[in-house]
Amino acid sequence: MNGLELLGPDQRGLFIGGSWREADGGATIDVIDPADGSVLAQVADGTVEDGVAALDAAVAAQADWARTAPRERGEILRRAFELINERADAFAHLMSLEMGKTVAEAKGEVTYGNEFFRWFSEEAVRVHGRWMQNPMGGSRLLTMKKPVGPCLFITPWNFPLAMGTRKIGPAVAAGCTMVVKPASQTPLTMLALAATLAEAGLPDGVLNVVTTSHTGEFSERLQSDDRLRKVSFTGSTGVGRLLVKQSADRLQRVSMELGGNAPFLVFEDADLDAAVDGAMTAKMRNMGEACTAANRFLVHSSVAAEFAEQLGKRMGALTLGRGQDDGVDVGPLIDEKAVTTVSGLVDEAVEEGATLVVGGGAPDGPGYFYHPTVLTDVPQDSRINTEEIFGPVAPVTTFETEEEAVRKANDTEYGLSSYVYTRDLDRTIRLAESLEFGMVGVNTGLISNPAAPFGGVKASGFGREGGFEGIEEYLETTYVAIPVS
Ligand code: NAP
Repeated sequence: MNGLELLGPDQRGLFIGGSWREADGGATIDVIDPADGSVLAQVADGTVEDGVAALDAAVAAQADWARTAPRERGEILRRAFELINERADAFAHLMSLEMGKTVAEAKGEVTYGNEFFRWFSEEAVRVHGRWMQNPMGGSRLLTMKKPVGPCLFITPWNFPLAMGTRKIGPAVAAGCTMVVKPASQTPLTMLALAATLAEAGLPDGVLNVVTTSHTGEFSERLQSDDRLRKVSFTGSTGVGRLLVKQSADRLQRVSMELGGNAPFLVFEDADLDAAVDGAMTAKMRNMGEACTAANRFLVHSSVAAEFAEQLGKRMGALTLGRGQDDGVDVGPLIDEKAVTTVSGLVDEAVEEGATLVVGGGAPDGPGYFYHPTVLTDVPQDSRINTEEIFGPVAPVTTFETEEEAVRKANDTEYGLSSYVYTRDLDRTIRLAESLEFGMVGVNTGLISNPAAPFGGVKASGFGREGGFEGIEEYLETTYVAIPVS
């Protein structure tokens, strides 16, 4: 099994209006195996016109889909959830193949990503408004919820399944139709997901998938169309800013899940073994290629040396290799550029005075690997502390007081996730209130949960995915005034 069997020979094209088709002109995109740089498969390279055809299909399907009973929408999601569960191994292999993560990690993503379908299958029937008396008397106030309308979803390569299901689940539940553009580096999982949703009974045109390398033109054209009512994007802050600007002319609703620069705070009273366990999870999930990845380890000076030593031992013991092989802990990064970026950040920090505890460097090819690395004595203003590393590197710096820890943690343009290790309840509450992040993990390195509102503040974006909040991103409120004599 390598997961490619999830896609029939005709299912590597564009999925528009319920049919698979080649790109206009027949161009294709190569999908590369990051473990050795070879070509795994080819998918259609959709044109801007193909994008418009996908939007046409979404618009044509919108009215009927909005009228479909919520229970029916929920049951389609539930069937898709069951089908994905049955095919969990195949989905995990496919993701591992195109993205690089280990099969074990990919299985974790299937469980996590699929849970959005189960959660929103249950939420579909819980959308409601309210009925109230005018406080001044004489009329009634009715509010009702309606689907936003046709949406554009643009997703990244790091979680090829979950970043799709987090948007598709609530949109299907709310009664929205959509055009999805997956990352060009990992399109296969999204195509397999589209095929599975169709099998689960999703009507033609509700979900359309366009793989394309003409990304900029594609988003610009679709966002210039009055019929598109919403854009939800997960990816880098730079692209997010561009999409928000592009939404301004048509005043489209936008949800932005952008980059992060998570602090991981370890206080002097923390359970140090638990903190090292949590650090391994928060840093090494997805080889560090996660928006939630711990980027800066801020450790009280009294425990910093021991923390760095223990973390160094754990990181140094990890085995690099192809994600589908047994015994491998860490797969390749996504591409050569990622390796160059991570190497550049580490080399620069070392030149500025940082000390390498373990790692630091890329093994000989083939493949885009980087050794798990721990650095200490990292200058506060080093680029590795201010930019998203997106790789298996843990820079450790120290603090003396809680006030200093909070100031350093908040000293970033980002505000997605943060982590805190302490046994002091008062301090935990003070930190949760003063950390400028959308999410705070307390004594845990794993905060993502489909039942919780995932999202950031500041340059990490706005909007929430998952939880009770997730479906609100796809609903509008209509207020009806009813005079009563
Ligand atoms: P990226 O370069 O921003 O790409 C993300 C998606 O945007 C891809 O589908 C890409 O298409 C598309 N894109 C690129 N340029 C575009 C443009 N001009 N107009 C419209 N779409 C465009 O980000 P990435 O490197 O794939 O992903 C890593 C980033 O995502 C990190 O910053 C990470 O923190 C963030 N992320 C955030 C969350 C969250 O929930 N907050 C979750 C996961 C990842 P192509 O593939 O065709 O270039």
